[in-house]
Amino acid sequence: MPGFEIFDESEKAQVNEVMNKGFTFRYNFDGIRNGVWKARELEQMICDTTGAKHTHLVSSGTTALTTALMAAGIGAGDEVIVPPFTFVASVEAVVFAGAIPIFAEIDETLTLSPEGIEAVITPRTKAVNMVHMCGSMGKMDEIKALCDKHNLILLEDACQATGATYKGQALGTIGQVGCFSFDSVKTVSCGEGGAVLTNDTAIYNNAHMFSDHGHDHIGLDRGAESHPIMGNNFRISEMNAAVGVAQWKKLPRILETQRRNKKALKEALAQYPEITFRQLPDESGDNAGFLSFFLPNETRAQEVVAALGKEGVPAVFYWYGNNWHYLKNWTHIHNMTSSAKLPIELIEDRPDYTQIQTPKSDAIMSRTISMLIQLSWTEEDIQSRIDAFANVFTK
Ligand SMILES: *Cc1c(COP(=O)(O)O)cnc(C)c1O
Repeated sequence: MPGFEIFDESEKAQVNEVMNKGFTFRYNFDGIRNGVWKARELEQMICDTTGAKHTHLVSSGTTALTTALMAAGIGAGDEVIVPPFTFVASVEAVVFAGAIPIFAEIDETLTLSPEGIEAVITPRTKAVNMVHMCGSMGKMDEIKALCDKHNLILLEDACQATGATYKGQALGTIGQVGCFSFDSVKTVSCGEGGAVLTNDTAIYNNAHMFSDHGHDHIGLDRGAESHPIMGNNFRISEMNAAVGVAQWKKLPRILETQRRNKKALKEALAQYPEITFRQLPDESGDNAGFLSFFLPNETRAQEVVAALGKEGVPAVFYWYGNNWHYLKNWTHIHNMTSSAKLPIELIEDRPDYTQIQTPKSDAIMSRTISMLIQLSWTEEDIQSRIDAFANVFTK
């Protein structure tokens, strides 16, 4: 997954262009920036690649989620369906928007299942936060149809799925609004950064205004701009956007390398009858940042994780035991612990998060192991992983 593995002179040259010729702020200062507009340039590149009508860059994937929620009109008291398997930001963003996260079950796509979503829809449901975990998608035809049927906003958290597609359509552009993360360990890195994608011009206008204190971004005089809405400062800097410009040009190479490396590993693992693979509704669109597979049961999965550890295989993830990616271990979410009183505390009939159960998801995640697919792997690195699996599964 990590684009940082292929940082080279091109990222430095882009940043230097900002420092030597342009300016650090993404808006205005036309007189001193000599036509250098890195955030704008990257936004256009993302639109060209994904087919999104609008892209708005922000400071992180998390602020992209907050911006997307606010821009799409998802706020106080609205229920937003979220998965128990995700990076915790997908849930925190909902809480800080004043909305109510409602956990639903995942399936063997490792993302929310259509049945799981349908089971928790209520009259208060406003949106589904569809998280495309580990580079790939869920059953998007069914999920899109379900959202349309119930008049729900489909928000795609594609923070881990930059470059992935479903039936030719970029993940992040299938629902009303989508988000990418460009943090230090994502497929494409800006150091820190994120993007909101949408085909809806009203959502786009809300997004760029909300992420910059409501500025309407009309005209050349920032001081004279009007502020149709209140907002926040989630702006990306031109230096971060510059890193992203260099990285985005490498996206085809990143995808090709990940897909090749993943294929080699997956083919080698397919011979072990105990292993089954994550369901991929459109395998050709997988960004291939991870290889995820299932063992027959939790005990065996833990044995295999331990054995791979002994073999010295790095970047093996057992999410079920990890503190940041699975609901079971999120004590602060169970208790809604915060440094200050949260909007959700004003909602009397809010869920008791200490009691939330997702048994179907537990049954899947307790058997799931993922391996990070890296760009820097040599043939020997791949072979050493294949050999390690042979030691674990044939001994
Ligand atoms: C990384 C990530 C985020 C948050 O992105 P940041 O840029 O780190 O704020 C949100 N959702 C998912 C699924 C992620 O993996």
